[in-house]
Amino acid sequence: MKPSTVDVLIIGGGPAGLAAAIELRALGVKEVRVVDREAQAGGVPRHSKHPGYGLRDLYRFMTGPAYAHLYVTKALKAGVIISPSTTATQWGDGTTVELTSPAGIEIIHAKAVVLATGARERARNARMVAGARPAGIYTTGSLQQAVYLRHLDIGTKAVIVGAEHVSFSALMTLAHAKVKTVAMITDQSKHQSIPGAKLLSQLIYRFRFMAKSHIVEIHGTSRVTGVSVSDAAGKLTTIECDSIIFTGDWIGDTEMARRGSVEISADSCTTSRAGVFAIGNLRLPIKSADQCALEAREAAKTIAAHVSSTPALKNG
Ligand SMILES: Cc1cc2nc3c(=O)[nH]c(=O)nc-3n(C[C@H](O)[C@H](O)[C@H](O)COP(=O)(O)OP(=O)(O)OC[C@H]3O[C@@H](n4cnc5c(N)ncnc54)[C@H](O)[C@@H]3O)c2cc1C
Repeated sequence: MKPSTVDVLIIGGGPAGLAAAIELRALGVKEVRVVDREAQAGGVPRHSKHPGYGLRDLYRFMTGPAYAHLYVTKALKAGVIISPSTTATQWGDGTTVELTSPAGIEIIHAKAVVLATGARERARNARMVAGARPAGIYTTGSLQQAVYLRHLDIGTKAVIVGAEHVSFSALMTLAHAKVKTVAMITDQSKHQSIPGAKLLSQLIYRFRFMAKSHIVEIHGTSRVTGVSVSDAAGKLTTIECDSIIFTGDWIGDTEMARRGSVEISADSCTTSRAGVFAIGNLRLPIKSADQCALEAREAAKTIAAHVSSTPALKNG
């Protein structure tokens, strides 16, 4: 199969990937293509349906979907090629990447490849939680996709595991889906969100907050029926619920980087592979979307300099 060429291939169309793409075009890079495995570009904000986006990069206070939509619109206007439903699946030599989409397999040879694959929450398996494997277990990301993009039925009573910013976002999503949060559990001594977040949300949503506690077992066969929780003294409590949301505890989505043995630096957008760069939450989870976008704009300068010093690519 003959490879096609592009100046910059960006893998991941979230805030970081799109902000970098727009800036690269502004810096004079001719061909910039963004691929995203989802049916639409925009990244996590697409299904994060609450305000809190855009303050530092766009000087607006927006909901996630509005923010994602604006970035996609700006990128298209800037001449960026966006390919949704397209997954980067493998590396060739250097900066050659294999893409898989409903149209089949495509080989792309780029002057620069930018990894902007984001971060994900550690799921139940990776948290070593014992017990049954019934339906009704989510991360905030999968919950928000189910509620806002697929309009699925979530259940009636939920337990949230974690007390980070994103845990309070899960709380709001559950309320939107008419699911009562019965408890929020954290192994830390207090929540890790902004001051007052717990107090205010407890006043509104009336749930039990359990610090220094962790889930020891999940109950239920086909559907979750409850969880057993242990506190710091080892005292066990069983809570009845039909949904569990594992929130926060972020890990970079490093699958593509690992496939190419690409080592990512926390201090710079360059990586161990020449011509390959990393930006956004992949590099250091987790930052806010505007922070990722601002960093990506800065990284675009380094990437554009690399592109202009790289000889023209031959097609095929
Ligand atoms: C529930 C929740 C609430 C949040 N609330 C806020 C908030 O109020 N304000 C705020 O500023 N930030 C908020 N954030 C954080 C913000 O969403 C992230 O900082 C931001 O989305 C990170 O951008 P990113 O581009 O690095 O990654 P992402 O947005 O995660 O985008 C990565 C993209 O890469 C794609 N991808 C991954 N692997 C591949 C592959 N192999 N091939 C093709 N595509 C691939 C994914 O499909 C995804 O679209 C929230 C996050 C969550 C989860």
